[in-house]
Amino acid sequence: MADLPDKGSAFIDWYLAVVEAADLTDKRYPVKGMNVWTTYGFRARRNLDAVMIREIEATGSDAVEFPTLIPANEFAKEKEHIKGFDNEVYWVTKGGATPLDVPLVLRPTSETAMYPVFALWVRSHRDLPLNVYQIVNTFRYETKTTRPFVRVREIHFFEEHTCQVDEDRATERVGSNLAAFRKMADAFGLPYLTTRRPEWDKFAGAHYTIAFDIPLAGGRTLQLGSVHHYRENFSRPYGIRYEAPDGSQRYVHQTTFGLSERLLGAIVAVHGDSKGAVFPSAIAPYEVVVIPIPGSDAGPGPLDTARAVADRLRRAGRRVHLDAGDERPGAKYYRWELHGVPLRVEIGRREAEARTVTVADRLGRKGNVPLDRLETGVAERLAEFDRALAEQARASFARSVAAARTLDELPGSATVRVIGWCGSEECGHRVEAAIDGALLGTLEEALPMPLANPERCIACGKSDGVRPAIAGRPM
Ligand SMILES: [Zn+2]
Repeated sequence: MADLPDKGSAFIDWYLAVVEAADLTDKRYPVKGMNVWTTYGFRARRNLDAVMIREIEATGSDAVEFPTLIPANEFAKEKEHIKGFDNEVYWVTKGGATPLDVPLVLRPTSETAMYPVFALWVRSHRDLPLNVYQIVNTFRYETKTTRPFVRVREIHFFEEHTCQVDEDRATERVGSNLAAFRKMADAFGLPYLTTRRPEWDKFAGAHYTIAFDIPLAGGRTLQLGSVHHYRENFSRPYGIRYEAPDGSQRYVHQTTFGLSERLLGAIVAVHGDSKGAVFPSAIAPYEVVVIPIPGSDAGPGPLDTARAVADRLRRAGRRVHLDAGDERPGAKYYRWELHGVPLRVEIGRREAEARTVTVADRLGRKGNVPLDRLETGVAERLAEFDRALAEQARASFARSVAAARTLDELPGSATVRVIGWCGSEECGHRVEAAIDGALLGTLEEALPMPLANPERCIACGKSDGVRPAIAGRPM
């Protein structure tokens, strides 16, 4: 098999080659931007969903599922929202040969599907908070070049929608979403940037938007997801009101939290290397691959031991693949490295006789685990691997983000930049022009590394109200 393109100098080519060679996607489907989930990719997706579900449900959210189609009149109720999606939605206008009385929108996100029903569910302060989420496919007519997992037209979408009694409770819900995302990203070993988007770049209909991005090579960034505070922007047009304890009628304050399979793309992009994908154990389709090494005089020992080892690890809850095919061990090592499996267990005659196995992790570290403590030994190795992978990602993050003090440093910047920004739109646009990208927003959470805060606005030089902000080139 041909070598992969160089990650540093040809990042996009490298990414496309890895997702294909690692069997995460099949790009041959005839509709652009619509992903075929292969068996291996689907395993990763299911693990991604499991982490999202675990962390959001820990914060008191329950799953629902709303229909895929939204009536045009409901979709049009919040004006900014429909304006934001005007050029992105798919329409269903006929049932068979009959034109529909009310055209339907294939959901691009589910505010306008859920909120007419929320208006029926929410009656009293006792019905609040209403915290629900769904994981469904959504559709957006993406006009830029599509990329597997990263820019698609059919999106595997996680969306939480909540109704709160007032603005402060909604602000608290935003905080709880940020904390939940921290735990998800920690499970994947992903360091990221949390910023409050500038007014001109917030979600259509939101009071404010907080987004998560990762820095990539060459000063590029990739948005992983976002949290929005809606205030009463949707509850008023959709009539979501409740009776307060004093008998008055009040509108709820709403929030949403959105994530997608971009997280899978980000995990490939951040952790992958010259040998292919590298998966943290939380998302790895297989955490362990077991490879028997039947030498010419090895007899049945290695294969029998390998079967027993795979069986024991499965019983211990591990996702395991036993590769007992007749290829050379070297070809198997190569394939499972390409596929990003965290841990390889090798069993030859020597191991079978010594009642031990050789383990090698995807970062190239090797050791032995005695069979009598197989389960704990493998668990320890996986935990060490996850720690080392997260540390490597933090080091790479620190190299990808640097401060800039003057606009001259921004053109062609090879890193994402931390700058001072006074908050004015004019200065923001000057920054965007200089970096030929976007002002992602003001930092909402500390960076995972020390960096002195800028004292002056990079564009106008003022120090009043200056806050650290992030500028980069969104992928
Ligand atoms: Zn300024």
